[in-house]
Amino acid sequence: MNVALFGGTFDPVHLGHLAVARAAQQRFQLGRVYLVPADVPPHKQKVPITPYHHRYAMLALATQGEKDIVPSLLEAPDAEGGTQWGANYSIDTVRRFKQTLKKSDRLFFLIGIDAFLDVAKWREPEALLRECEFIVVSRPGFSLADVAGALPESMRPADAVLKPFQGKSATGGDIVLGGAAIHLLEGLQERVSATQVRQAAAQGRAVNRWLAPAVAEYIKKLGLYRTANTKGAAKPSDEPDVHAVAEVMQPAPLSGSELRNNSRTTLHIVGGKARGRRTARPEER
Ligand code: ATP
Repeated sequence: MNVALFGGTFDPVHLGHLAVARAAQQRFQLGRVYLVPADVPPHKQKVPITPYHHRYAMLALATQGEKDIVPSLLEAPDAEGGTQWGANYSIDTVRRFKQTLKKSDRLFFLIGIDAFLDVAKWREPEALLRECEFIVVSRPGFSLADVAGALPESMRPADAVLKPFQGKSATGGDIVLGGAAIHLLEGLQERVSATQVRQAAAQGRAVNRWLAPAVAEYIKKLGLYRTANTKGAAKPSDEPDVHAVAEVMQPAPLSGSELRNNSRTTLHIVGGKARGRRTARPEER
């Protein structure tokens, strides 16, 4: 079975998240999409976020009519390997989750392009990129070069290789590079962010149009996001110690890699040197 982990803060879960999960489910025949709220997101340790149980409750409400999109407790405060080190790191979550999968299962990591652009700063980014396939949800204005350029330095193609892709909209396709496979999922244009929802709620404006009805109801009933905090969090959570997210990685040689998109251009990167050549789309072969 194809399975995806979709991690985030989900403060709160909104229709953009659900659209991403549904689109990926259809495009990659995902038998299950797990929405994994982080108890302590590594990149948000200094900002107040809503307590985990509220964020999880909203995910449960948002997905109640969805058979195969389910909330996950993988990064719950009391989960095995949980937040005793201060934050939930995706590499730990993925490795732990993989132990529960069958050999025949195929694991994907679902992520928006804005979050993917920081992937090089994550813990063990090369290892994470090789542990599972990535589905990056692209947005207008981002190019394939942006996606490849965000890779950790040891995996990143040379600037000369990326140049032909710069400014070219990332309309889908795959990047296969140094043992990592990254699929671009295009066509989603949900103009909503959780920040927007929190800010609107803090100003007493309606938030219904961005949320599943049961989530909007929960926010209202519990009075979440009422504080005038610009970040709009319901209640500051305890601030744990700050841990370094970035780590220095050993450069690994590139080999047998390719960068491909729907424009029929494939770049093969062999031993760090790039050659461009025209090729047929996969479905035309
Ligand atoms: P915030 O505004 O608080 O930063 P957010 O709306 O980006 O929150 P997160 O929980 O941080 O939500 O995001 C979880 C994942 O969902 C990330 O990979 C993010 O890129 C993706 N995502 C969030 N909103 C959208 C959207 N409207 N379209 C596509 N992807 C999205």
